[in-house]
Amino acid sequence: MKKVKQIAVISGKGGTGKTVLTACFAVLARNKVLVDCDVDAADLHLLLHPEIQERHEFSGGSVAFRDPEKCTECGKCLEVCRFDAVRENFDIDPIACEGCGFCVHVCPVQAIAMKECVNGEWFVSETAYGPMVHARLGPAEENSGKLVTVVRKRAKAIAEQSGAHYMIADGPPGIGCPVIASITGADMVLGVSEPSLSGIHDLKRVAGIATRFGIRMCCVINKFDINLENSRVLEDWCQDNGISVVGRIPFDDAVTKAMVQGKTVVEFGETRAGTEIQKVWQEVKHCLTMKE
Ligand code: SF4
Ligand code: SF4
Repeated sequence: MKKVKQIAVISGKGGTGKTVLTACFAVLARNKVLVDCDVDAADLHLLLHPEIQERHEFSGGSVAFRDPEKCTECGKCLEVCRFDAVRENFDIDPIACEGCGFCVHVCPVQAIAMKECVNGEWFVSETAYGPMVHARLGPAEENSGKLVTVVRKRAKAIAEQSGAHYMIADGPPGIGCPVIASITGADMVLGVSEPSLSGIHDLKRVAGIATRFGIRMCCVINKFDINLENSRVLEDWCQDNGISVVGRIPFDDAVTKAMVQGKTVVEFGETRAGTEIQKVWQEVKHCLTMKE
């Protein structure tokens, strides 16, 4: 079976154009499965308009529940809870509870039990560009890394069953656990950066993670022409660190105009940004072949 090539599009922070680029790849790539790994603030659906085919509940863990009928109000659970999840009246705050289970062990009358809680949902959908797996984590819920792993696993299974060539993931911002869950096992991390000091700093952090996990990294500079000097600094740093710069996308208000219409910029006629993004996709494909 031909191996599915996995590409994770990430950036150290939000708002660099990562989702715009992923959505354009969704249009340009043939025979692919799409996956939105930004489960805390998913927005790929705004451009790809998925129709949900399957809906699944996600449980990221358990929380403690107290049975007031059995409780003798001895206060032992309040004493031991290090997360301040037990209130003065011995009710347990399900948001504050970390699910450690310590209170269950100390309760002398077995009044506390752990129960699985539903933290979010994940979906398998159809889009005009191919299947898409995506998710929604509940407000203030944790375990987004675990949910990312769930959606990527399913996307990979769909890609393998259907003989897809590519699995293209829109990664979450930052460098935390959900980012690690988004890139583990990927063939390429594509870092999207902007030519600002914070953009350069964030790209370096992302590159640090890719290196730690032994994943090839390429870089795209978005809006490269808003600060040519910083773009040069970014390119020099990439060159010194063995990172190929596979594209320089110019600032183009066609990107925003296309988004307002719920489209990707590559579907928005001849535009400077759209033309460059088409070249970026060709470069990405080329780099993936070179790795073989
Ligand atoms: S399970 Fe742990 S965090 Fe939750 S209430 Fe019990 S002791 Fe506190
Ligand atoms: S340890 Fe058990 S009995 Fe004691 S207050 Fe907590 S729930 Fe009630």
